[in-house]
Amino acid sequence: MLLLPAGCGRGEHPPDAPTPGVDVRAYDVSIRLDPISLYLSARARLTVFHTADANTLDLQLSEAMQIRRVLVDEESVRFERQGDRLRIPLPEGDSALVTITYFGTATEGLHRGDVAGQIVTYSQAWPQHGAGWLPGVHHPSDPARFDLHLIVPKDYDVAATGVYESDRFRPHDSWRRYDFSLDADAPTYTFAFAVADSFVVVEDSTDSGLAIRHYILPDDARSAAGLERTPEVLEVLEAILGPYPYAAYSTVEIPMGYAGMENAAASFLSADLYTSSSGGRNALEEVNVHEAAHQWFGNDVVPAGWEDLWLAEGFATYLTTVVYEQMDGPEVAQERRVRMAQLGWRDARRRLVPEQYIDPEDLLSATVYKKGGCVLHLLRLTLGDDVFFAALRRLARDYADRPLSTEALRILLEEESGRGLDGFFAYWVYGTRIPELRIAWDRSAQRLTWRIEGDAGTLDGVPVELLIQQDGHTEVVNVLNGEAVLPGADEPRVLPVGVLMDVHD
Ligand SMILES: [Zn+2]
Repeated sequence: MLLLPAGCGRGEHPPDAPTPGVDVRAYDVSIRLDPISLYLSARARLTVFHTADANTLDLQLSEAMQIRRVLVDEESVRFERQGDRLRIPLPEGDSALVTITYFGTATEGLHRGDVAGQIVTYSQAWPQHGAGWLPGVHHPSDPARFDLHLIVPKDYDVAATGVYESDRFRPHDSWRRYDFSLDADAPTYTFAFAVADSFVVVEDSTDSGLAIRHYILPDDARSAAGLERTPEVLEVLEAILGPYPYAAYSTVEIPMGYAGMENAAASFLSADLYTSSSGGRNALEEVNVHEAAHQWFGNDVVPAGWEDLWLAEGFATYLTTVVYEQMDGPEVAQERRVRMAQLGWRDARRRLVPEQYIDPEDLLSATVYKKGGCVLHLLRLTLGDDVFFAALRRLARDYADRPLSTEALRILLEEESGRGLDGFFAYWVYGTRIPELRIAWDRSAQRLTWRIEGDAGTLDGVPVELLIQQDGHTEVVNVLNGEAVLPGADEPRVLPVGVLMDVHD
């Protein structure tokens, strides 16, 4: 996900973890939706695996949804309901098919927006708003398959999570059914669909044959040039991380409050990005790169808990700079990493893994995005490219469809590098300090000196780059304590490249 400056509503669900021993493997969901009133009637079939001592399935479903009945292995069962919590008894054995039939007018997780007069109805599940239309375990650590059958009035077009399979209607019927299938696991917060009067679908593919579909609202078709390099973006990510996790990739233009949302195999991108002039930078492409990177980190490798959110957002932020490094060269990546390392005093010092929080939405800050990205860049500088990128590939392989915790990341990095990283993690991940860089400018001698003063030890031996800018002239140095005579007399700027530090003069 990527934030726009305008915020989004706060959630109302506590961030609790799934019941131990219970694993929802797959959701097969049929929803008949009126895209204007948001009234829906639905049936969700959940394939559940469980241990012998786990005898209840705890799900979250909005109170606005009335439950018609619950079947377990096709037998009607009594269930408990309290607020948006639903408790369903599980049978003996190790698996069950749980079918929930429900209906109501959605009050969360479904939205309507307007683009050039066209109404678009879309879902937004992050973090737990999927409960507005889907009974589920809405926590990142229980990813699952998702088959969606969305039935809408037949003149509408639909885009959704997973791979488009078919759409059909009977001649006498006024409804059309769209089928989508997600062929590998993803967290429920990445399950999504969008309904519009009309989408223009632009098809593309990577060299290896991965199908790409861009769903664009007709008035904006002219401005989707920012999506032209999508095949190259996916190819670069595959070269860095290993195979793309799903059978196809889509982008969907949506009038939403976030800049982008990494819905599984179908990144939703804000309609604002298609129409704004981006002042030399391609904002639409940048957000698409971020959400594409999430298909590996966030959707395939899932965070073990909300507190590990930086394992999704920090990775997507940093991988975006790596994609641009590969596509456009090291100077473009440098400039992006300078921006990544610029964040407010509080955000720079906040722990990457929070000790406590009330709502997952409270965790969306520059800390998880930019500090998270900077910590990954510093790990790369500390461990070297070979070890760092081998570790990323191993993470993507070993943790596919599995929850990754911050501690498991540390252990894997220690195994790959043969180095102890307790101190690194204590300072940069769990700590609340950053080093200080003291700079002094002697105008008459045109001499700049710089020196690490606070917590210098944490950067010992690390080839940190500093960008020195003066009058449009840029020089890169990679010593942390040094001096240079500059060509001009104007006060220079010293910018750390992708490493957090407080720059004082
Ligand atoms: Zn993101």
